[in-house]
Amino acid sequence: MEECLFCKIIKGEIPSTKVYEDDKVLCFKDINPEAPVHVIVIPKKHISSLNDLTVNDEEVIGHIYTVIRKITKELGIADSGYRVVSNCNEDGGQTVPHVHFHVLGGKKLRISVV
Ligand code: 5GP
Ligand code: ZN
Repeated sequence: MEECLFCKIIKGEIPSTKVYEDDKVLCFKDINPEAPVHVIVIPKKHISSLNDLTVNDEEVIGHIYTVIRKITKELGIADSGYRVVSNCNEDGGQTVPHVHFHVLGGKKLRISVV
């Protein structure tokens, strides 16, 4: 089966600008940023969508939020504020089928659902 885009980024088959990495999680800059800071945070384990998370993934998802607190401090947006977004399936606007969290900041973000 063809591997997903983010699995290829994890393997280094597609280059990315890494912001943070450990054994469970990778953070890299979005190729098409929608804010001055736009980082994608992914579990290294392939999980297609939020619908596919199981109770066994609670630890990695909790860990992702620990990583988000760390990188937002390092990127200087923790105090000014930021937004975490995770899109699920077609209506949610998910285009890459590997669970991911957008971390957006560095400007005042408008309230928007689209
Ligand atoms: P989604 O629309 O699935 O919630 O978010 C996917 C995100 O991945 C988009 O914001 C898009 O810009 C980003 N993206 C797509 N392809 C690449 C890539 O090859 N490299 C990087 N760094 N980001 C990508
Ligand atoms: Zn994947």
